[in-house]
Amino acid sequence: MQSFDYRKVYTLQEALDVALASKGASAFLAGGTDLLVQIKEGKKQPRYVIDVKGVNELAGVTLAGGELFIGALTTIRTLETSLSVSAKVPLLAQAAAKLGSVQVRYRATLGGNLCNASPSADTASALLALDAQAEIYGKTGTRVIELDNFFLGPGTTALGDGELLTRLKIRLTSNRQGSVYYKLSTRKAMDLAFVGVAVLIELGGDDQISKTRIALGAVAPAPIRVPSAEKLLEGVRLSPEAARESAELAARSCEPISDHRASAAYRREMVRELCQQGLLAAYRQAKSQKEDKNE
Ligand SMILES: Cc1cc2nc3c(=O)[nH]c(=O)nc-3n(C[C@H](O)[C@H](O)[C@H](O)COP(=O)(O)OP(=O)(O)OC[C@H]3O[C@@H](n4cnc5c(N)ncnc54)[C@H](O)[C@@H]3O)c2cc1C
Repeated sequence: MQSFDYRKVYTLQEALDVALASKGASAFLAGGTDLLVQIKEGKKQPRYVIDVKGVNELAGVTLAGGELFIGALTTIRTLETSLSVSAKVPLLAQAAAKLGSVQVRYRATLGGNLCNASPSADTASALLALDAQAEIYGKTGTRVIELDNFFLGPGTTALGDGELLTRLKIRLTSNRQGSVYYKLSTRKAMDLAFVGVAVLIELGGDDQISKTRIALGAVAPAPIRVPSAEKLLEGVRLSPEAARESAELAARSCEPISDHRASAAYRREMVRELCQQGLLAAYRQAKSQKEDKNE
């Protein structure tokens, strides 16, 4: 393992200053479940490792003004077990419970999962389906972007020089919602998805769909949404045929590759199948919801 200088920081500004001073030769350390493996394998060779685990501004799950804020240092285990997360955004709790093993989830953080920018990151598809926004701290202060614009490709994000992901913001609704996250991997645990599908459906009056979100992992260079497949269902009372049509569009929109985990053709077929199942399941769930769950 290549050696590096270790520096522990306690504030956002300190983290930023140290990162900028390193002129691109540093990496932030959160849980280390991606970073340390990558350093050991020689895939990353930072001269400085900046430990941000002591930065309080990155911690905590809070509910304010109809929005849920989740700090970047929040562990995947907390997402899985937090009552406010499972009550307000069960889709994220569901995705978190499917990441790695319980030991990994105690260590791994939400910020690390997103900033590592693996196309198969489990929390990414769930957060895309939830229309999450990413809060970023850098030289010019804080900026907020749609999470949809955060992932640029495998291992690449919209984070600029020295910037940190500080927290995720999710606007809550009192409308009836249903959501599911399906993950296919070659092993049941401790394996990355070769297909991840997150579906969210929101209902208006008369059980008509007012919003659909479909987000896919591991079938494109980055986690993606499929707006064409989502739009098709606006104003619709979902039937198996409509779900099939939307799922077909999702399958045609993705760009899977073949690798040791699965072939491109199989991945596409699974996107079609899981999207159809997911849409029907989320619709059923939304229909069974009582109104005003967030009030
Ligand atoms: C055995 C094993 C199984 C795994 N299984 C899965 C799985 O099933 N699904 C899955 O999605 N992942 C899986 N992973 C990957 C990993 O656990 C997750 O991606 C995890 O959430 C990373 O979080 P971390 O805190 O450990 O990140 P770290 O390793 O500390 O950091 C990851 C990257 O993000 C950067 N970073 C961290 N925090 C910030 C921040 N706030 N701002 C800017 N940059 C930041 C780091 O510099 C680094 O480049 C697995 C890993 C292992 C070792």
